[in-house]
Amino acid sequence: MKDVYVFGAGASASEGAPVVSNFLRIAYRYLKEKGQDADLEIVWDFLEHFYGSRVEINSYRDLDRYPGIDEIFNIVDCYLLHNQAFSARFPRSRLYELKMALVKLISATLDRSLQSSNGIHQSFVAQVINQASDLPTFISLNYDVVLDRAIRGAGFETEYGFYGNHSNDLAGSGKIPLYKLHGSLNWSYCPLCGEISEHNEKVAHLLFSQSNTINCENCHGENSQAIIIAPTLYKSYNISRLNNVWDSAALAISRADRLFFIGYSLAPADTSIIAMVKRSLNAPDKEREVVVINPNRQTCQRYQRMFGESCKINYTGFTREMFEKISASTTH
Ligand SMILES: [Zn+2]
Repeated sequence: MKDVYVFGAGASASEGAPVVSNFLRIAYRYLKEKGQDADLEIVWDFLEHFYGSRVEINSYRDLDRYPGIDEIFNIVDCYLLHNQAFSARFPRSRLYELKMALVKLISATLDRSLQSSNGIHQSFVAQVINQASDLPTFISLNYDVVLDRAIRGAGFETEYGFYGNHSNDLAGSGKIPLYKLHGSLNWSYCPLCGEISEHNEKVAHLLFSQSNTINCENCHGENSQAIIIAPTLYKSYNISRLNNVWDSAALAISRADRLFFIGYSLAPADTSIIAMVKRSLNAPDKEREVVVINPNRQTCQRYQRMFGESCKINYTGFTREMFEKISASTTH
């Protein structure tokens, strides 16, 4: 029985990570109200000028008027990819600085909020590895390294799928495939040789400092970049190693007997992911179980519209009761 687990933001939220809609508010509390970080001033300045003339931000509550962090990130990234400016105040050079600050903000906010993690990923990963007859595959849409740590905590190494295909990954020395479709805070991309280096700990926020000492593990080149990619812009990057991660994920899904979606919102903006999953389910079109674990009824309805009425829906968050439900559904 081959199982594939797809993790979305809701899974990390159960460990205390903020979700897209409250990310800026929480970032502001940690990184502005409770301690100043000079590198992040540009983020608050950008938001204060987001609507044209300055609208002051005085408290974390003011952040609720903005779009989600993903959309802000997307807009900034879009200008950079198209060589455009946002305004006279934010020409291209400042947008580059802003993007670096946003990655630092994402990384630092996840760091702070995950400090009190309750270890649910850890117990879940250990349980599914123990119960499964075949090693499971994990796909994550999150940048944080909670799942990576849980896999290592269970005594396995992670196989990120930069090379070869999913079959090689499975054959490869008992590692557990973990395909992170939007990048990861512990990856660095070398624009010189095109390789992605993996690190044990998060490096994304370090890659922007002038004195960064993170060199490419392949060619030792400098100027490595973070891989934190907004879903709508994934194709624009054209990083071949990341394309390989997507191909590996697609093959894993096509080989799966059961596909679990945990805390993933299936947002309409995630067209590349939805298209990839649907294509994989047709290659070949065989009987598979699609299991959805999500406390939001509207989201669950979206799953049924997208994948059919036969989806097994569990209206629940990523909790220990959920384990029991999964265990019950996996007893044959
Ligand atoms: Zn390199």
